[in-house]
Parts: sequence; structure tokens; C-alpha cells
Amino acid sequence: MFNGILGCKPDKMEEACGVFGIYGSDEDVARLTYYALYALQHRGQECAGIAVSDGKGMKLHKGQGLVSEVFTDNMVASLTGKIAIGHVLYSTMGTNVALSAEPLICSYLNGSLALAHNGSLTNAKKLKEKLAAQGAVFQASIDAELIVNLIARNGQESMEKALQKAMQEIKGSYALVIMTEEQLIGVRDPFGNRPLCLGKLDNSYVLASESCAFDVLGAEFIRDVAPGEIVIIDQEGLHSFNFSNPVERALCVFEFVYFARPDSTIDGINVMEARRAMGRQLAKEKPVDVDIVIPVPDSGIAGALGYAEGINCVFDMGLMKNRYIGRTFIRPAQSERDLGVRLKINPVTKLVKGKRVGIVDDSIVRGTTSKKIVQMLRNSGAQEVHMLITSPPVIAPCYYGIDTSERSQLIAGQKSPEEIRKHIGADTLSYLSMEGMYRALGQDSGFCIACLSAKYPIEIPTGEKLGKKEV
Ligand code: SF4
Repeated sequence: MFNGILGCKPDKMEEACGVFGIYGSDEDVARLTYYALYALQHRGQECAGIAVSDGKGMKLHKGQGLVSEVFTDNMVASLTGKIAIGHVLYSTMGTNVALSAEPLICSYLNGSLALAHNGSLTNAKKLKEKLAAQGAVFQASIDAELIVNLIARNGQESMEKALQKAMQEIKGSYALVIMTEEQLIGVRDPFGNRPLCLGKLDNSYVLASESCAFDVLGAEFIRDVAPGEIVIIDQEGLHSFNFSNPVERALCVFEFVYFARPDSTIDGINVMEARRAMGRQLAKEKPVDVDIVIPVPDSGIAGALGYAEGINCVFDMGLMKNRYIGRTFIRPAQSERDLGVRLKINPVTKLVKGKRVGIVDDSIVRGTTSKKIVQMLRNSGAQEVHMLITSPPVIAPCYYGIDTSERSQLIAGQKSPEEIRKHIGADTLSYLSMEGMYRALGQDSGFCIACLSAKYPIEIPTGEKLGKKEV
């Protein structure tokens, strides 16, 4: 995925994390979790961690960096057990990355408890104040700490009751994997905002943010965890119950636009098919007369394939992405910004020179990347550049765990499409309509579209004013 210009805040919505859990494998659970986290790496690249339980105690290793940087072969081998949970994190700006790594382990009345979270609690501030007033102490500013605290303080109850009580106190978006010494637990928020699915690997149960993690392990997909459902897996097998009254589902639509891997299927919708259908739908709504359709790699590939099919035009990879720029890359100074862009992405001059080019991307967040790409294509001799976006304009910030800019930095929150077109220097700019997006997804309800509509399905944090999001 090309998520922005080197040295700048990414010009994309950024996923907050991925979670995985496995119960009862005869195989090496830590190693299987390690491979699953590799498959979920696109959901977070800042930290990775694995916790294991052998039935008597827990071991944990976590740290800053990619899965491959945090774990060595010996480290994975030392994490012996029969249950494991894992986490990859994308930390939002301003947080202490080292302290944010998960899973989080704590000791409580009945032993140890480990937890990993994807999402964001919208009442975190209030909960923290309440728990602190009751004597709780906190080390990191992460929601997982609050949830662990809430479960642990009901430690005298059965785990089912403790979970139920904790879930009734938290608000917002969450997919959780929780481990006790004897159990693996999965929880999905009542709105189903964050994805979580259940699978089976021989005699083991597995839980993951995305089904692509199952494919990597050769596990069989069973079903998505339902909104408001708690799944508990222990030596008795699997049992589950609902902890909330039914509310209208609000699955994050951006999973289909950008976050999820194309080979994943979420709540019955395959991501690759959805993205391609969005491209085809845009071709129906806004056909342009071009000689070649190219994607912004990698986020625009599926949409560009669909768009090219829709207008019956040549598709080609007219922009090349350098896949070998690691996190340790020396970022160019402000004066070398253009060099930074070209190092990361570069046009194939032979393909675009003298052509009318349709360039497809999944979204525009701040517009900085689109502007540079249009400029690069023109410098490479493109005769016309038409920017084609396979989602509606991003006009409002996300409060549910996705790192967006403040509204003032979201270009579509400030400018009309025509003003954006002028700003990025394209000949035309086309967005997919909201109705078109629903048509491509095959259903017109059940999604959170708050960043596209400024209508928030889940109560946003108290005291926040729309467009004044703290980052
Ligand atoms: S506002 Fe809703 S649709 Fe947009 S990124 Fe956040 S959860 Fe996803």
C-alpha cells in the first residue's frame, strides 16, 4: 500500500491493529500466532506481541517494530503453551509507542489475564477517571488497560459474568481476544464495527481480525463472530452468548475501501470483489475517455481493474512502487521531498507518455499524495490526467480507532470536488457516489460511513465537537 510521502504523516486512513488467538493446538501455538500476525501485518506496523498460556502461567513477548523485527526464532520457540493470543499495532500520533504494545497481561483474583484490542473506546476518558477515583493505577494510555481492569474487578464472579459486566460499561468499537490460563475468548462490539472471525485448524479453534490469517495457516473459516457476541473456548469446547440488545450493525466500510487485505472475506463480503465492483460502478457513474487506466499501487489496483473493465480500456501498472523502503530509511529533508516521493513511487514513462491517463485510487485523505502523483505523471509526458476515486469523499474524522487527520486537514472536509481537482492539478476528478458504493457492496445498510457522511452510528467521545478531533 502506498500511504503517503516519506517524511510526512501518512496520506491515508490508518488501521489501528489486528488480533489473533488460538486454543488447544498440539502444534506450536506461538509459531502459528507468529505466522498469523505476518498475515495481519498490514493492519499495524508499529508493535507486535504474543502471549501464551500453558495452563499454569503465561509468557509474553512484545516490542516495537514489524513482526519480523520483534521476534527471533529462539524467542518464538521459548513461548511454549497451548493457548496464544497475538497483536499488531498501528499507534496513533502522539501516543507512547513502546507502552502501547499489546497483548497486556495482568494478575487478578483467579490467576492471569491477557488481552489484545482492535478499535477505540469512546468513553475511555470517563472510564479512566472513574477507575482512577476507585484506586486503579495505569501505566499506558491504552483502552486495553481499562478493559482488563473492568474484567479483573469482577474476578469473584464467573468469567461469563465478569465479561458481561465489563462489556456493559464500555462504549465504542472493539474486537477483543482475551486469554485466561484455561480459556480463549473473543468479543465483538454490539455494532460489529471491527471485524472478528472464527475458524478451526484441526482440533484447534482460531480467532482473527481477518480471514486471510486462517488461509495462511490452512485453517477453515467457520463464521464471523456476531456483533455483541462473546465466544468462549475451553476444554469443554466452544460456547457463546450475546451480551447486548440488538442494535443496527455498523461495520467499518473502510475495511472494504482500504484496510482489509483483498483475500479476506468480512461478514460475507469478499474484499477483492467489493473493491473491483466499486471500480466498475465508478466506470458506470463517471466514464472518462482515456487511453490507459493505471492504479496507485497497491491501494488502487482492484478498483482500477474494475474501472478498466467497466470502460473497456487497457489496464497497466503505470506507477512502480519501491517495496524495499523499510522503517529505518533515512527520511529526506523538506528540501528533498520530491526525491522522497520518487524513491517510493515512480511512473513508467513508456506507458504514460503522450497518453490520456485515468489514475485510480481508493480514497483521498489530505490530497498531498494525489497532487504529487498527478505532477509526476505530467512530468512523464501524460497528455491528460484523470483522477478516479472508488469511494465517496472523506469529509469527517473517525472516532472508532482509525487514525484520520483532523477535519481541517481532510481536504474534502474543506474543499468542493472542483476545488480539490484544481488543488491536485488533475484534468478531471471523479468520486464514487454513496449509492454506488452500497450497490458495489451488495447491501445498503449495516455499515459505518461516518467519515463519509459525518453521521456517527456510535456515540462519539464526550466533549468532542465534530471536526475538532484530538490526534
Ligand atoms: S468513521 Fe466509520 S467507516 Fe470511517 S474509518 Fe471510522 S469506523 Fe470506518
